[in-house]
This record gives sequence, C-alpha cells and structure tokens, in this order.
Amino acid sequence: MLNIVLFGPPGAGKGTQSELLIKKYQLTHISTGDLFRKNMSENTELGLKARSYIDAGNLVPDEVVIGMVESKIKESGDVKGFILDGFPRTVAQAKALDVVMTKIGHPISAMLSLEVADDELRARLTERAKTSGRADDQDPEKINNRIRVYYSETQPVISFYEAQGKHKAIKGLGDIQGIHGLICSEIDQL
Ligand code: AMP
Repeated sequence: MLNIVLFGPPGAGKGTQSELLIKKYQLTHISTGDLFRKNMSENTELGLKARSYIDAGNLVPDEVVIGMVESKIKESGDVKGFILDGFPRTVAQAKALDVVMTKIGHPISAMLSLEVADDELRARLTERAKTSGRADDQDPEKINNRIRVYYSETQPVISFYEAQGKHKAIKGLGDIQGIHGLICSEIDQL
C-alpha cells in the first residue's frame, strides 16, 4: 500500500495536489478539513462539535479528529493506499495514526511537506476567499491565526517523521503541474 501524508501550512496547495495524486496513483483521499465541512453542512453531532474551532481558525481537539480518521480508514476496506490531507496536524495525531496503520499492517510510506513562504500563503488564502465560501478564509485575523497555529502545533510533526526517515520537503512555489512533478518524483523513488 502507498500511504502518503501530504503536509503543509494552510494555503500550501495540499487539496489541489491531493486531487492530482489520487488520479495518478488511485489513492483514497482522507481530507479532515473536507470531512469536517461535510459534517458541518449536514449539522451532524461531529459537525456541531467542530464548528466553533474551525470558524475561529483553531484546531479541533485531537480525540475528535483521531476518532473520525480511524473510522474512515477502517471503513475503507481494500484500497491501494491513502492520501492524508490535513492530518496529522499535531504530534499526538501522528502517533495515533502510526498505531492505526501498524494495526492494519500498512505503515505510512512518506510524509511530503509542501514549503511555501507566509506572505504567499496569506495572498493565496485571501484569493481563495473570493470563491471558497469558507468562513475561515474570509477574515485576515483568522488567516493569521491559522498560520500561527501551524507553527506552534503542526510544524513539530515534521520532526516526528524526520526521526523515522520519512520526511521529504517539496518546494511548493511555481505552477501546479511543476509541483505535482516534484511530488511524483519523490513518490516514485519510494
Ligand atoms: P483544512 O481544510 O485542512 O484547511 O482544515 C480546515 C479546518 O479544519 C482547520 O483550520 C481546523 O480547524 C480543522 N482541521 C482540519 N484538519 C484538522 C486536524 N487534523 N486537526 C485539527 N483540526 C483540523
């Protein structure tokens, strides 16, 4: 199985690159942000739990996210592999993911980390706000908070995968196809 963690700050291009990778490698997409947005639009219990955190640009508590991802992985059955987009976002989530993947006998193959400068992230999120309909894209203060949360809570996940020799840095600047090419060449070396 090919199990990829696609990592990076908000606005790095994880969603866009995931779509291209799913097509090329026939992977099953697990985007925690998309799962939360679906639950919020359907007013499920999970959606109601997550909304206040998401709208403020904060992380949803680990136990909520981990439970959601575990069920998704377990209910996926026989698949070629997973692309995890927006998860793990804390070291506790990364550890929990390792436990689940070990249990199913298919560990994470690599963590590909998209690197984009903060100014470019702000510019991309501000542009995306015009069409995304996402409350957390609309307000510059929320955007700044998401970037702050990335540095304080999410960036430490890099060291977790570095220690396992699984972290690969990818320059996330340039055109979409060019970045896709860089990601594929890392995957094809696995
Ligand atoms: P995204 O679409 O990945 O930018 O996620 C949108 C929002 O959902 C984030 O700003 C968080 O509030 C929440 N979220 C998504 N994934 C996670 C996660 N792995 N851990 C905690 N919160 C998350």
